[in-house]
Amino acid sequence: MNRRNFLQGSAALVSQAIAPANAQPMPRMIGIQVGAVSFVDEGVEKVLDTFQHEASINTLFIATFTYGRGIAGRQVPGQPLPDHGAQQYDNGSGYGTFQGGSYTRVHPEYYKDTVLQDFRAPDFGDYDVLEAALPSARKRGMKTICWFEDVWNARVPNIREAQERALDGSAPGTLCFNNPNYRNWLLGTVEDYARSHPIDGIMWGSERQGAFSNALGAGGSARDPFRVTCFCNFCEAKARQRGIDAARARQGFEALGNFVNAARQNRRPVDGYYVTLWRLMLRYPEMLAWEMLWTDSLRETYAAMHARVKQINPEIGIGWHIWHNNSFNPVYRAEQDLTELAQYSDFLKMVMYHNCGGERMANYIHNVGGDMFHDVPQQELLDFHYRVLDYAHEKPLAALPQSGFSADYVYREARRAHDALAGSKTQLWPGIDIDIPTAPTSSKSTPEGTRDAVLAAFRAGANGVLLSRKYSEMRLANLRGAGEAVRQVLG
Ligand SMILES: [Zn+2]
Repeated sequence: MNRRNFLQGSAALVSQAIAPANAQPMPRMIGIQVGAVSFVDEGVEKVLDTFQHEASINTLFIATFTYGRGIAGRQVPGQPLPDHGAQQYDNGSGYGTFQGGSYTRVHPEYYKDTVLQDFRAPDFGDYDVLEAALPSARKRGMKTICWFEDVWNARVPNIREAQERALDGSAPGTLCFNNPNYRNWLLGTVEDYARSHPIDGIMWGSERQGAFSNALGAGGSARDPFRVTCFCNFCEAKARQRGIDAARARQGFEALGNFVNAARQNRRPVDGYYVTLWRLMLRYPEMLAWEMLWTDSLRETYAAMHARVKQINPEIGIGWHIWHNNSFNPVYRAEQDLTELAQYSDFLKMVMYHNCGGERMANYIHNVGGDMFHDVPQQELLDFHYRVLDYAHEKPLAALPQSGFSADYVYREARRAHDALAGSKTQLWPGIDIDIPTAPTSSKSTPEGTRDAVLAAFRAGANGVLLSRKYSEMRLANLRGAGEAVRQVLG
């Protein structure tokens, strides 16, 4: 290879690394999550004007399906109303009036292989959020991504036929990825979006994990360790194919449940909590195999949705919202192998919510400090997690909920994801916290904090940022803080 060829080759490599298609650098993605209620309350043109003017937004992540209030509906009751939109909570009367479901028309031909058929959100009658917002977005050159999540409601007809089964035999309300009713609903939904509307992409998020981390309360709220999932017939059949003994797994999880309940009552095992947990893992490695079975089932779901969309239209991007637990729980982080995920992800929204992250990390430490690490003083436990998760300069436990995480946390998380995705074509779009609700005594978003988080994400090499969770809970000054950073970066 002569010098000229070598230089051409290395130039090609460099341009490939930053630009997956046609050697043209991709424009930076500046996105915002927004639900139907904002367009209904404020009008499509006014909302899009605000997005473009305040934060140079070029991509809408429209909440098309959820039964949760995290990404749809107005501000959650108990939190202060933002300085735009209807100055009231959902339907003006607090809890119970938000309903959820699909905010875009459902085309039944795509749901023939599932019992889940009746899930249209009744909140705004016949209103279709994509029909309402897409034409104006396209006219403005803004992209639109359908954004939906793994959050259901027990009132959906036939839902029991798609639900997971817990260790104790109960049906906890979450749906099983190995149940054809749910798998086919997910595939039908992405097909419906891809065929029915001129969209640019689809993002789906699942904020759940397998039975092992759930039993230990390692993420989200601590729960009954006997209500962990999934032990349905489909999962047991899949376990058999993998050579996992389901009866042994159940025995292990029952022993784990007893261990967790004893720990929460301060009943210390003779050899201490941590050693005893290891004894259970060594005795019942089927528990870890069961955890990985759950994780692989989620990955297969991602891959199947990706393949379905690419069959229909390769130009439509599809990717995933990766749960904040990735920032707290080392086991969950181990399961988020980005090299693996990159194979079926056009983009990843890695959640890096700095402000609410402090409160959430403290909650995580309290949970695992109540069972497997019960013998470890919780400040030491937090220090250990800062070390193994590679954080620095973050606050001690007593101050953490009131301080939140710093912009350096965003930088480190974005840098790690950037490095893990090196060599892939997957775009990295960190999720940025703007006014995600926290307890009254916990830290609140500020314009400077939001600006610094966005700057940190770009400094770490992110291809874009996604302002989260929903416009209807954001204060305009904080949105402007993100906009200030975007203008600095884009020049
Ligand atoms: Zn199952």
